[in-house]
Amino acid sequence: MFNSLSDRLTATFKNLRGKGRLTEADVDATVREIRRALLDADVAVPVVREFTGQVRERALGAEVSGALNPSQQIVKIVNEELVEILGGETRRIRKAKTGPTIIMLAGLQGAGKTTLAGKLAKWLKGQGHSPILVACDLQRPNAVTQLQVVGQRAGVPVFAPHPGATSELEHPAGDPVAVARAGVEEARQKLHDVVIVDTAGRLGVDADMMEQARQIRRAIVPNEVLFVIDAMIGQDAVNTAMAFDEGVNFTGVVLSKLDGDARGGAALSVASVTGKPVMFASTGEGVDDFEMFHPDRMASRILD
Ligand code: GDP
Repeated sequence: MFNSLSDRLTATFKNLRGKGRLTEADVDATVREIRRALLDADVAVPVVREFTGQVRERALGAEVSGALNPSQQIVKIVNEELVEILGGETRRIRKAKTGPTIIMLAGLQGAGKTTLAGKLAKWLKGQGHSPILVACDLQRPNAVTQLQVVGQRAGVPVFAPHPGATSELEHPAGDPVAVARAGVEEARQKLHDVVIVDTAGRLGVDADMMEQARQIRRAIVPNEVLFVIDAMIGQDAVNTAMAFDEGVNFTGVVLSKLDGDARGGAALSVASVTGKPVMFASTGEGVDDFEMFHPDRMASRILD
């Protein structure tokens, strides 16, 4: 991830080294290189435009500082702008004031929601929480079993409808909204302090799926709605993110498959176009391949 972008930016800044003052032509040439590097990394066009506009304006207006030479100054500006488009400060999970904290996961099928559910649960458990997973993806035949396997790996219980049960609470008739509600109720009764609700995705954005997610959101009033997106999907990331933002008004982004060789554009675009922060990164298929996302660290990594 980001290797090629990182190399390109570093090479661009190298050209500025040794310059005592930057002319407007120097700044324009640098900004042009940054623009090319971002576009080649699959960053969405409007994001590139805004980013380079900001960098240019700030670079031209920058005071000549005694401490930083012109190339360091541009690196500093680019770093700050990268942090900004990645969501600014590190965003932590918003906890419920009373009752369990409810986290709902949304995203396309295959984005990595179910895998993430296990990672998040294990991570929260490691911090002393007592999470429960709720299986609301009743569309994909294996989704409930998959979540059960994930729950087992993470060492956390899974609430799922089971066909043999008779009571409404145990068997909410295959209706994902009822399962979500019952799962939250189960968490309350069994004193779990975090509920992670896995929802159904489709291969593409689909009105029925979005309506179902919206109904689940309305029924359980989550503290966080995390939109999980596969970082490998490149330019499609922006449209998908905007559709989900309109559909379920998510509160944070999780970038999955950051271990792949994606060029990084999704990561840089999604937070920017939706105005929602990237909160977590998923970096592999294992239950521990997961980290909190720190915009400042990611920016430094790119500019390293
Ligand atoms: P869901 O349909 O959104 O629930 O997606 P899944 O959690 O089932 O993930 C789809 C596929 O992607 C599975 O084969 C996962 O093992 C894989 N996967 C999920 N997260 C990651 C990740 O961070 N890195 C890699 N390499 N694979 C992942």
